[in-house]
Amino acid sequence: MQNISVIGAGTMGNGIAHVFAQNGFTVKLIDVSQEQLEKALQTISKNLDRQISKGTLTEEAKKTALNNLASSTSIAEGVKDAELVVEAATENVDLKLNIFKQLDELAPANCILASNTSSISITKIAAATKRPEQIIGMHFMNPVPLMKLVEIITGYSTKQEVTNTIVELSKTLGKVPCVVIDYPGFVANRILMPMINEAIYSLYEGVAGVTEIDTVMKLGMAHPMGPLQLADFIGLDVCLSILNVLYEGFGNQKYAPCPLLVNMVTAGFKGIKSGEGFYHYSAGSKELVVSKRFS
Ligand code: NAD
Repeated sequence: MQNISVIGAGTMGNGIAHVFAQNGFTVKLIDVSQEQLEKALQTISKNLDRQISKGTLTEEAKKTALNNLASSTSIAEGVKDAELVVEAATENVDLKLNIFKQLDELAPANCILASNTSSISITKIAAATKRPEQIIGMHFMNPVPLMKLVEIITGYSTKQEVTNTIVELSKTLGKVPCVVIDYPGFVANRILMPMINEAIYSLYEGVAGVTEIDTVMKLGMAHPMGPLQLADFIGLDVCLSILNVLYEGFGNQKYAPCPLLVNMVTAGFKGIKSGEGFYHYSAGSKELVVSKRFS
């Protein structure tokens, strides 16, 4: 396999394109927004520079990686020669179903279509296409160039041969693949999101403050980041939407999102991306400052 197309040039799409290009694949990065594509190419170049300054990449390898990359605003043009498409567009069911219907029409018949979705059912995405056996989840973690895991999600119809191909491909990217079956939240978010929700409940019920909750989990469980800081990093809107997928998918009260999380998202407090969540973020500052609402 040589030709990879990546749909969506946001946070995840640029990281996925970076990793494939760095490992010698020919990559087409596709987005509806030309501005987003230009931003993504700049981010990739900056992140490759960071690897050079750490001594993990040479100038020559950076040049090769950038030469392996092209961009397009047209899905038709971008996937016409693809052997694998990795979709990393906005997390929205209707949008993804629509993209997969187009990919099914436009990509070569033997092309594998993967989604980087955090929570949408791979089986549902597959059912929108005429090639359900070639649809699979390839869930990279953020930031993609640094995080080792790829959670590989097999839908109800995914062919074993396709799973094997994606497992081997993930290894050639230097990643560690873990194959899981398609149920709400897969494994990563089924375990992570209830922990984050419980941390928010602890704050909501006044059990402890933001700093105490995050410090207990960082120092007590050796987590690199506390759950409230992690929620701000992921995006509180994203956390809420994944919890809703778990809640609706299992019909179990234990996944009901904390009312504080619902209120924060409704009011536009989404974490780092909006400048405030459980912490307050000012441009350029590396210091972690608890939001005034919780201090
Ligand atoms: P993002 O908002 O940063 O980027 C999404 C990109 O998709 C945008 O550039 C947007 O212009 C583009 N897009 C929207 N509609 C499109 C279309 N029809 N065709 C082509 N491009 C289109 O989002 P993100 O955080 O990169 O998330 C992308 C996917 O990765 C989601 O499914 C998300 O659940 C998943 N994911 C995110 C993270 C994370 O930490 N951010 C981690 C793992 C998985």
